[in-house]
Amino acid sequence: MLNIVLFGAPGAGKGTQSDLLVAKYNLNHISTGDLLRKEIADQTELGKRIKSIMDSGSLVSDDIVVEMIDKAIASDTQGILFDGFPRNVAQAETLDKLMAKYGRSITCMVSLDVPNDELIRRMLERAKISGRSDDNEETIKNRLKEYENKTLPVASYYEKQGKHIKVNGVGKVEDISASIIAAIEKL
Ligand code: AMP
Repeated sequence: MLNIVLFGAPGAGKGTQSDLLVAKYNLNHISTGDLLRKEIADQTELGKRIKSIMDSGSLVSDDIVVEMIDKAIASDTQGILFDGFPRNVAQAETLDKLMAKYGRSITCMVSLDVPNDELIRRMLERAKISGRSDDNEETIKNRLKEYENKTLPVASYYEKQGKHIKVNGVGKVEDISASIIAAIEKL
């Protein structure tokens, strides 16, 4: 069973590549960002608590996302594509423990490599149509800062485990998917 972490900065194309990968390998797509946005849209207690944090581009607390991930793994039977999780080393460690609790493990972490100026260009472009309240220039800067400070070390975490696959995230969508699939097939 494949359990893949799709990794990359905001704007690296995780959402787009997730759709293609879940279809190809019949995986469950677990996006913590989508789950959190749903809480806000549904105006739940949790949604009300996290809205201002998400609007600022900062990460929400680990406990919140870990609980969501625990439930997602518990109910999954087909393999998971993790999108937007883990976002820091503590979450990566917790994910390993959770997977072990269910007798599973992470197969690999695929990271999409995109230079910063291209990330900003893509996010500003997406802002015109996404309707996402965190797609504006100030928040984008904070999201990239959070990524560099907290999320980037997650790549080394998987590198040490020999599970890190780096893919060039610039170019045609189908070429990028082909590189990801080729790397997964080699495992
Ligand atoms: P995303 O859709 O993955 O870009 O996530 C949007 C926002 O949701 C982030 O800027 C964070 O505020 C929050 N978020 C998503 N995933 C996580 C996570 N694993 N840990 C903490 N915050 C998260």
